[in-house]
Amino acid sequence: MKAIQVDRTGGPEVLLFKDVPIPEPGPNEVLVKIDAIGLNYIDTYHRTGLYPLDLPFIPGLEAAGTVAALGTDATDFRPGDLVAYAGVPGSYAEFVAAPQERLVRLPDGVDAAAGAAAMLQGMTSHYLVHSTCNVLEGDTVLIHAAAGGVGLTLVQMAKMRGARVIGTVSTEEKAQLARGAGADEIIRYTEQDFEAEVSRLTDGRGVHVVYDSVGKTTWEKSMNCLSPRGYLVLFGNASGPVPPVDPLLLSRLGSIFLTRPTLVDYTATREELLLRADDVLGWIQTGKLSLRIDRTLPLSDAREAHRLLEGRLTTGKVLLIP
Ligand code: NDP
Repeated sequence: MKAIQVDRTGGPEVLLFKDVPIPEPGPNEVLVKIDAIGLNYIDTYHRTGLYPLDLPFIPGLEAAGTVAALGTDATDFRPGDLVAYAGVPGSYAEFVAAPQERLVRLPDGVDAAAGAAAMLQGMTSHYLVHSTCNVLEGDTVLIHAAAGGVGLTLVQMAKMRGARVIGTVSTEEKAQLARGAGADEIIRYTEQDFEAEVSRLTDGRGVHVVYDSVGKTTWEKSMNCLSPRGYLVLFGNASGPVPPVDPLLLSRLGSIFLTRPTLVDYTATREELLLRADDVLGWIQTGKLSLRIDRTLPLSDAREAHRLLEGRLTTGKVLLIP
């Protein structure tokens, strides 16, 4: 089968389009013929080695497709089922052998493209507003990179919780998309001082939660945007990793909380995975949640996809088609 393989870490050029053997499903695994692959920022951290993986590896954690074969104990699925998943390595490929406990069946009306676009970023936004913090009606939240893949779903889900949403973005086009997703206020953080703007927009009170996936260039000011006992949710490092933080800083800034969550810990059991996936896919099915698919590229163009994502040139989801 065709797949992207990384033999050494580095820039987009280390993504090699190769012929590799089709994986054999283990007893509890399902062989999925992939129709659409979800591109995620974490794929770039794996490629550069920021999050180290054993070499060589096939990148990618998210896809949707059709069940092609079953391991001897994989009795929950049938050949031909349309399934999707997040968190299964080796997804930049025509086939993947996925543990059956990570798979969900796509409901009627949700196709493979929507499934591959929804699972990782959708379930991330779900746990961020329901579980990392329980965002409540009337809370004010700050969401960085509000027109990104996670950003656009996070804005919508924070609005579903009844929050007032302040979003940051780098361009006017992104500002319009974030507003379209429901953001009440937008700050162009590449031109305006977002800390000063948040203070102005909240009459100096600050926000209850900052969702910060940008990291290096934003984390410090993000902390200063919080009201006492607020939450800094650092969940990514698009601009680079955050340095160590002195706990005394958290007390000086008003007994604030700092957390660094990952999706894997918020979908640790089959029950929790299904609860989040059912909500997200159900909202797509009924139109309560909109997905923005920015573009769809052939898998052989994975290098270009990574360049666009790291160059801040995408809005919403990018899909790769094997
Ligand atoms: P995005 O589509 O959000 O792309 C990243 C965005 O970050 C860019 O479009 C850009 O928006 C912004 N950004 C700010 N500074 C930089 C920079 N120096 N270089 C590149 N981008 C920058 O990606 P995803 O939706 O895939 O992921 C968003 C973040 O969420 C990532 O950090 C990812 O790791 C994290 N994440 C974390 C998860 C978890 O469970 N912890 C799960 C899923 C994602 P703008 O131009 O508007 O500034």
